Amino acid sequence: MSLFDKCHGFTTAKEVQAAGFYPYFRAITESHDTEVVVEGHRKVMVGSNNYLGLTHHPKVMAAAGDALRRYGSGCTGSRFLNGTLDLHEQLEEELATFLNKEAALVFSTGFQTNLGVLATLAGRNDHIFSDRLNHASIVDGSRLSFATTHRYGHSDMEDLDRRLRNAPDSAGKLIITDGIFSMEGDIAKLPAITSLAEVHDAKVVVDDAHAFGVLGRRGAGTAEHFGLEDEVDLIVTTFSKSLASIGGVVAGPDVVIHYLKHHARPLIFSASMPPSAVATVLAALDVLRSEPDRIEALWRNTRRMQEGLRSLGYDIGGSETPVVPVVIGELDRMLMFWKELFDAGVFTNPVTPPAVPDDSCRLRISLMATHTDEHVDQVLDAFAQVGRQMAVI
Ligand code: PMP
Repeated sequence: MSLFDKCHGFTTAKEVQAAGFYPYFRAITESHDTEVVVEGHRKVMVGSNNYLGLTHHPKVMAAAGDALRRYGSGCTGSRFLNGTLDLHEQLEEELATFLNKEAALVFSTGFQTNLGVLATLAGRNDHIFSDRLNHASIVDGSRLSFATTHRYGHSDMEDLDRRLRNAPDSAGKLIITDGIFSMEGDIAKLPAITSLAEVHDAKVVVDDAHAFGVLGRRGAGTAEHFGLEDEVDLIVTTFSKSLASIGGVVAGPDVVIHYLKHHARPLIFSASMPPSAVATVLAALDVLRSEPDRIEALWRNTRRMQEGLRSLGYDIGGSETPVVPVVIGELDRMLMFWKELFDAGVFTNPVTPPAVPDDSCRLRISLMATHTDEHVDQVLDAFAQVGRQMAVI
């Protein structure tokens, strides 16, 4: 048995490529916010996480350029040593204020933030309670922590309660949930989660990767949406979605952030966010605060798309946000559907097993504040045509 046997034996992707339905790694050659060019053809982008449409905002692009000229292209070191700029500290202060927390700490990605938070705060004698549909970075962070991890049924508060009750009193307890679930588009039951946390003396961490800039009056996320900012101990989010860049942050009590700063290995042993990326996030945050209408535009587009898909007869599950899964069926059928849409000028993302059951493969759509009515209608027309042609609706 050789180490690489598994690689030689992996043929599925090549088979799908040969059949012409391979949806992954399609290179974008031009990006214009809501529209992209792939293989020489323009597509409406409904497969990004660019919820507020800020990647092409003139102020955001100008800030990235200014930072590049002032600080150079990279930090070439970790936050701990030579990789902290005044810009990183400014961003941490602004995010702590925006999220109504004492302090914040910026990592180089959202994935690393979850690894750092979970593996640093939870240890062998602790228990982590994690929604079964939480993001992969939460699954991996829990594994890295060596804590006992309970993956409770998706938003199943009875299951969570039972597991909390059965955990030893002496154990440190941490409940972690996505704010908006990234594949389903539903919202965590935060009021129930924070009540259970209080009863069982557990800390609550919310991953607002998909809720930042989307939920809450100011776009501050799930805790703001439910008025539970004081009940949520730590908010984790990413800059790779509404904030139009790359990086991640955890916000919470000063004492916890100070501890993470001196113990989180993904922070200490990995280079910091590059200057242009930090400046991008600062500018994007500024636009979010000064142009709140963007949130309203995002929700208007969301309603238009959801109503359109439902009235065509599609099953969009429990989506209640700009993340909209469209259930198609078996894998082969879904890949053919994806290709037909792609050829009709619509860029969507396929969701395949094991993320979903074999017979409910889906296409994930996400809306942007900058989509026009014409974009939404073009996508709906394509879904109508392909759905009828393939007898899905
Ligand atoms: N958490 C959630 C819920 C996510 O969806 C993602 C990204 N898909 C991450 C964390 C990781 O974020 P990043 O892209 O910054 O690594």
